[in-house]
Amino acid sequence: MFEVKPRTCEVNMRFELSERLKKLPPYLFLEIDKAKRKAVSGGKDIIDLGIGDPDESPPREVIDALCEALQDSKNHHYPLDQGVPSFRKKIAEWYLARFGIALDPEKEILALIGSKEGIGHMPLAFVNPGDISLVPDPCYPPYKGGTILAGGSVHMMPLLEENNFLLDLKKIRGSTLKKARILYINYPNNPTSAVCEKGFFEDIALFAKRYGLIAAHDAAYSEIAFDGYRPDSFLKVNGARDVGVEFHSLSKTCNMTGWRIGFVCGNEKIISAIGKVKSNIDSGVFNAIQIAGITALDIAEKHLKRMNTVYQERRDELVDGLNSIGWTTRKPKATFYVWTALPRPHKSSIKFAGRVLNEAGIVITPGVGFGESGEGYIRMALTVSTERIKEAVARLKKVI
Ligand SMILES: *Cc1c(COP(=O)(O)O)cnc(C)c1O
Repeated sequence: MFEVKPRTCEVNMRFELSERLKKLPPYLFLEIDKAKRKAVSGGKDIIDLGIGDPDESPPREVIDALCEALQDSKNHHYPLDQGVPSFRKKIAEWYLARFGIALDPEKEILALIGSKEGIGHMPLAFVNPGDISLVPDPCYPPYKGGTILAGGSVHMMPLLEENNFLLDLKKIRGSTLKKARILYINYPNNPTSAVCEKGFFEDIALFAKRYGLIAAHDAAYSEIAFDGYRPDSFLKVNGARDVGVEFHSLSKTCNMTGWRIGFVCGNEKIISAIGKVKSNIDSGVFNAIQIAGITALDIAEKHLKRMNTVYQERRDELVDGLNSIGWTTRKPKATFYVWTALPRPHKSSIKFAGRVLNEAGIVITPGVGFGESGEGYIRMALTVSTERIKEAVARLKKVI
């Protein structure tokens, strides 16, 4: 028998963090999170417009499909790396019906443990130390994080209101482009809720081809849109499939954020390289969840018809309300976020968010948390009821 003796000598263990971890940007939402927890535990009635996580449950049919898939013993083994064939086949059918694009389920589709997983892992396949990813600012944080964890660095590209929050490709220097490997885009956009036209996607495809870049389009909000607007696929424009991939997620589409399921489609070589990285790190999405994902894609259209009506009502309540109390806020065409400049005379989004939490008991997200160019703005999520939104506007009226 082994005898485990406590160490008697003085051990001064020092766990030095890797350079890549040290380089990760600080988590700017930390202070807000702390303050929020404190307010909640103090019994304050908090309205949380902070997180981008749908308040409603996944559709009943999807939960039933998962329960049924759980009963089948063959679903409890390690998943296949690429994903369950029937799920990939369903994604191909959905793409064809939704965007008119025919994809090969064997080579052009890969299941992901949520699209964040694929977005975060992708740079490991293409970025070497010294290489650069071109990242919009403000942005969804994993574009930066994934690149830095792969040893690369990021070049931030400001999204400005005067450009309708579209990238200005002309502003990127030749010396930056020489080292650039991946160009990230995201429309409908988080956090700005901006949308883009087909012409923008065409410019991106041409630009990526000219400079030998991979174009990675994050389409997490492609299904959350209003007033009859339907976001299109990047993969539809000429040349996009030579240079790019598109990330999708069931998280926002079917209220399945906790399930961790998404997928990436497009260029065969890029898909296969992401798959190679993944096969060395994870073992895929639980089969039962992929099978429930088939049902989710089957009923998505019906579910979204109702869900988008709900978000649209909330959007109207919030934006009309904010404008009625003197803010200048535009109605987004897509996503469940309202992105708006701070009301005058406020300048610091962190200070303003702190004030709104303390004085009004409302959690909002400071724009600067998504990148420097987000300063001067805040993001509010439409993930609470219209009654709560009404209440939020009434409370905001008193914050000066
Ligand atoms: C929510 C979100 C995702 C989706 O993440 P999952 O990992 O699929 O849950 C991807 N991109 C953006 C911009 C998001 O806001």
